[in-house]
Amino acid sequence: MFEDAFASYCGARFAVAVASGTDALHLALRASGIGSGDEVITVANTCVPTVVGITMSGALPVFVDIRADTLNMDPAQVESAITPRTKAILPVHLYGRPVEMSAILELARQYSLRVIEDCAQAHGARYGGKKVGALGDAGCFSFYPTKNLGAFGDGGIVVTNDEQIAKLVRMLRSYGETERYHHEIEGFNSRLDELQAAFLLAKLPFLDSWNSRRREIASIYENALSDLDLVCPRDRAGGESVFHLFIVRVKQRARFRDRMRDQGVETLVHYPSPIPSQPAYAAFASQMSNLPETALACGEVVSLPLFPEMTPDEVERVIAACREAL
Ligand SMILES: *Cc1c(COP(=O)(O)O)cnc(C)c1O
Repeated sequence: MFEDAFASYCGARFAVAVASGTDALHLALRASGIGSGDEVITVANTCVPTVVGITMSGALPVFVDIRADTLNMDPAQVESAITPRTKAILPVHLYGRPVEMSAILELARQYSLRVIEDCAQAHGARYGGKKVGALGDAGCFSFYPTKNLGAFGDGGIVVTNDEQIAKLVRMLRSYGETERYHHEIEGFNSRLDELQAAFLLAKLPFLDSWNSRRREIASIYENALSDLDLVCPRDRAGGESVFHLFIVRVKQRARFRDRMRDQGVETLVHYPSPIPSQPAYAAFASQMSNLPETALACGEVVSLPLFPEMTPDEVERVIAACREAL
């Protein structure tokens, strides 16, 4: 029942629930025919599970740079990263802000590539009036408790309009079964607990109102901070962010964060280092030379507090602290 409700929320024909967002990416890639030795184009300023999903499928991540103004995949960088081994583009709607999908879908059509969207931070975000997730071949969501729609534990889902992908993810999440005790392909165990599905079904009707409160707080921040020495990333035309996080870029980040903390406002950094700079992904370190905007952004991004339950007073306190800190 939750699967049907979430598919219809996203405007997709199918939704297949799995155990986590990482599994959603892994299984969606496999179900799209991506595997060992294939290359998947993505970004380096993301949460590590984006890349864990890719490597679990056997494929290799190829990182492209981001736009400075959106902090999302720069469509203009994608074409030169395509090789004969490229099988898919995996845009990440980071911080809840939709990637410019029209350019990416056009390239995918031109080069016959799959498009798998990482929607783990973007439940309900829209691009060109349509919800993310059903824009490419498959969209992958996480229901980790901190996400815009969170369970009381781990969970994830793949949404798609492609019947074959839906069928394969359904098989892959359940040991490759087509019917009980008949295993057509080798699969995995990646179920969403019934209990989590029940929580999610009960919470889904509130998602839009939570997202609009997030947008409301974000626009208060944007207006109140516009004269300060910081930069707020923006939606490109057609994009409607759901502000999973509210990001600003500041040049002297450590000093800014200390000053915010002195005033009782805790800030966070999502994410301090690009994936190829992590020890686990040292094999991809040479790709950093293609990622100057990513490197700059990772040194400047700060997340200000933003959650739907924030009171107007709390929002004002954050704004006052920013003014004082800068
Ligand atoms: C949370 C997240 C994931 C993975 O989700 P899990 O449910 O924790 O496996 C993937 N990509 C991004 C961008 C995320 O923020």
